[in-house]
Amino acid sequence: MTAPSPLVEPFDLVIFGGTGDLAVRKLLPAMFHRFLDGQLPPSSRIIGVAREALDDAGYRALLRQTLSAVCDAVKLDAFLQQVGYRPLDARKDAGWDDFAALIGSQPDHVRVFYLSTSPELFVDICGRLGHYRLNQGKSRVVLEKPIGRDLTSANQINDAVGKVFSESQTFRIDHYLGKETVQNLLALRFGNALFEPLWNNAHIDHVQITVAETLGTGNRSAYYDRAGALRDMVQNHMLQLLCMVAMEPPSSLAPDAVRDEKLKVLHSLQPIDAGNAAQLTVRGQYRAGVAEGASVPGYPDELGHASHTETFVALKAEIANWRWAGVPFYLRTGKRLPSRVSEIVVAFKPVPHSIFDVAAGPLAQNRLVLRLQPDEGVKLWLTIKHPGPGGLRLRHVPLDMSFAEAFGVSQPDAYERLLLDVVRGNPTLFMRRDEVEAAWRWAGPILEAWAAGNEAPRPYAAGSWGPSAAVALIERDGRTWNEDSE
Ligand code: NAP
Repeated sequence: MTAPSPLVEPFDLVIFGGTGDLAVRKLLPAMFHRFLDGQLPPSSRIIGVAREALDDAGYRALLRQTLSAVCDAVKLDAFLQQVGYRPLDARKDAGWDDFAALIGSQPDHVRVFYLSTSPELFVDICGRLGHYRLNQGKSRVVLEKPIGRDLTSANQINDAVGKVFSESQTFRIDHYLGKETVQNLLALRFGNALFEPLWNNAHIDHVQITVAETLGTGNRSAYYDRAGALRDMVQNHMLQLLCMVAMEPPSSLAPDAVRDEKLKVLHSLQPIDAGNAAQLTVRGQYRAGVAEGASVPGYPDELGHASHTETFVALKAEIANWRWAGVPFYLRTGKRLPSRVSEIVVAFKPVPHSIFDVAAGPLAQNRLVLRLQPDEGVKLWLTIKHPGPGGLRLRHVPLDMSFAEAFGVSQPDAYERLLLDVVRGNPTLFMRRDEVEAAWRWAGPILEAWAAGNEAPRPYAAGSWGPSAAVALIERDGRTWNEDSE
């Protein structure tokens, strides 16, 4: 039986960009689920902010469309009573006096300002919050990705936010870290005696991290074209996953204990730059093809013009430290791939000597597969004997645990955990400034090498696993992408 979730202390959550896609599709449903679970004190308020001229009733009507699919009307009405709206332009003064009066500046009241807007507005919003002294006491600010498009722009954002909010008040969100499987990585690694002694280059052959999407860029093409897969996925989500796999055991789960260890991994990444980017990275861009049973256009058609922005990247990263020297981390991510799957695969080295006849069949690698989506869970591939009297034949089978099946409950969305972590003031699963900077320091030279090479990304058909060069990247090393995820 699941333990009841504890009530958090009363808070105000202000969502700048409250009418936007992220707020309506993710943040408000996440808070609604926490409400249904009884975690929100009745005096807590959620206030959407955007320029659109809505009132409370209009905003609630907007949210009702999304939330009504989730539960019955009575509970939804009760939740929406705690939700309000204020029309404000982050760049104009009008309305801010009233907004500041509404929020109040009592230092012992938790106020969370979630910046779910384009990062160009972060400086204006934080400046005004500071002007009205809404940054005092238990105020916190949540920054959505992207935090910059390179080290310089990330520093500009962090400097500007840092003038108003201290580092301990600043929560840089990476929703991948809120996923149940990522938490489970900590539990598996540090809660079992089984794995940690094997968790090094003596026993692990390589690691793969795949984040595959079936969707194209659609009506977000213009935004995406300024980013690309490396900025959108690798610099943040995938490096954070890599850090969770590779970090040394922290002394505790205290926020800085975990983040110090992740930072050391980022600092230990071998540089990829103009000298080796061609060998260690593959960029791709989808063309027309068939995705999820339907014909779909290519990226340039969706965008309306040709572009050098990558919608796919595969790369081989290496960590220069005693634990991981010689163990490649293969990362791949892309849009319009055949299935929507996010997985970490830890592939162990083969046994040193086989005692079995050739007739028993090949000995496959043990693989630990941590599935982040869909259907979060863990699979451990083992070699066993095929049952029956037909001689000793080997089979490779998974110990397969779907969290939803094992615990009989669907997993909460990552935003549910992370939003309440902000309310609680727990930054363990949020990125510290120095982590963001270290990630850009590693990713920047890759982007520069690509820009200097001025080569177009390799085309791949929508619905395929990316350019053939991505297969060659791993096969050159005598390895293959995990077929189970494909
Ligand atoms: P969006 O749908 O374009 O929403 C932007 C929001 O900002 C709208 O509510 C918009 O409302 C408001 N806004 C724009 N200019 C404003 C101004 N001057 N003052 C006050 N409000 C203003 O964007 P989104 O998809 O929700 O994404 C928001 C941010 O989160 C982006 O940085 C995005 O990269 C990031 N993000 C999004 C997702 C996602 O799944 N959508 C995932 C991860 C990160 P008005 O136009 O009415 O002002």
